[in-house]
Amino acid sequence: MTEKGLLVVVSGFSGAGKGSIMKRILQKYDNYALSISATTRDPRPGEMDGQDYFYKTQKQFEKMIDKDELIEYASYQGNYYGTPKAYVEKQLNSGKDVILEIEVQGATKVKELLPDTVLIFVTPPSAAELRDRLTKRATESADQIRGRLRRAVVEAEYMPTYDYILVNDDLETAVTELDEIVRAEHKKSEESSALITRLTTELKELLKGDETL
Ligand code: 5GP
Repeated sequence: MTEKGLLVVVSGFSGAGKGSIMKRILQKYDNYALSISATTRDPRPGEMDGQDYFYKTQKQFEKMIDKDELIEYASYQGNYYGTPKAYVEKQLNSGKDVILEIEVQGATKVKELLPDTVLIFVTPPSAAELRDRLTKRATESADQIRGRLRRAVVEAEYMPTYDYILVNDDLETAVTELDEIVRAEHKKSEESSALITRLTTELKELLKGDETL
């Protein structure tokens, strides 16, 4: 039987480089699958339906909620974002490690529902570096940059609830570290389930063999 994959949540400040990490990890290793979310926000130039997101109307999205088709959903900047269940389950069952790139409220919900999920928060090494990365994007106005930094302050409050904080200073290093975390988590869960099986067998044997107990 194929071992089930791990569910990995990646969150982080806007400008932390999550997108580049996701792109690179999928190129570099073949055990990962990236979940594609549903959203009510409009596609940005260059984005494609079914590739970046599944773009939905509010009505369509609410129908998905009613039909229990989402693992989690959250409202962010006036739009709905949610993780479709079917794809994630299928990939996990086929042994893939599934990455959800979602914001902090959704991450909290996934952890509550599926406690084995590994939560990873990506951050640049410093606030100044975050500001510089946002400034370099050149697509954003000073007001938008301030808005993103203000939101980062709120998001930082969730950082202690994450299992790992991943500092993205150098892209390749961050990708390697993320993969190492996932490998270590696999090993941990394999070792603990082997230990549980062995202890249970030993306890039963002990009780069978000794009538005085
Ligand atoms: P953007 O509109 O910039 O693509 O994404 C905005 C935020 O929504 C990002 O923090 C992204 O991680 C988050 N997000 C994307 N998909 C989902 C999802 O399915 N669920 C939740 N809770 N957040 C999501």
